[in-house]
Amino acid sequence: MNFLEEVILKEGQALSDQVLKVDSFLNHQIDPQVMQKVGQEFARLYRSEGITKVLTIESSGIAPSVMAGLELGVPVVFARKRKSLTQNGDLLTAKVYSFTKEEENEISVSKKWLKAGEKVLVIDDFLAHGEAALGLANLVEEAGAEVAGFGIVIEKSFQSGREKLLKKGYRVESLARVASLSNGSITFTRNGQE
Ligand code: 5GP
Repeated sequence: MNFLEEVILKEGQALSDQVLKVDSFLNHQIDPQVMQKVGQEFARLYRSEGITKVLTIESSGIAPSVMAGLELGVPVVFARKRKSLTQNGDLLTAKVYSFTKEEENEISVSKKWLKAGEKVLVIDDFLAHGEAALGLANLVEEAGAEVAGFGIVIEKSFQSGREKLLKKGYRVESLARVASLSNGSITFTRNGQE
């Protein structure tokens, strides 16, 4: 079991067979030491890829992304879920459907912070149905930049996100892969097996 799986087993709560609550270290309170290790692991996995930027989505993707950006020595930009008052002019936008909220949102990032030619590591806290990840990839491609791959803190392997991203040819690195949340117990995939 890796360090993150241990933290998830100790701190995580299966709210249902679909939803994992991890608000003691990732989604509400943040554990900087766990985030630092997460950032180091993403950096180790992508160090040879010539990453020039980390892209994530507010708000829970920011902490692991900042740690990865620090390790890789590159800036971090986060897509917004709502337009900010100071965000004007040229925006890259993508539609993202949320299965948990049952609504579609438009995410955006300023063209100033995502440019053609960049090599982008896309990081998010969870991978479920892959909608957020694909929306972020759309922003990168709209900018004329390249997706080097995805860094996911917690993947729910029983949902379709990973498959969708692999089918599009993307590299997906998930630090913890949850096989099941059934009956209130959290289990992980073993050595890449489903
Ligand atoms: P997707 O777009 O892959 O369906 O869902 C990814 C987004 O939904 C993540 O950015 C995360 O915010 C949220 N999410 C999906 N499943 C879970 C879950 O089981 N627990 C938590 N805390 N967030 C989730």
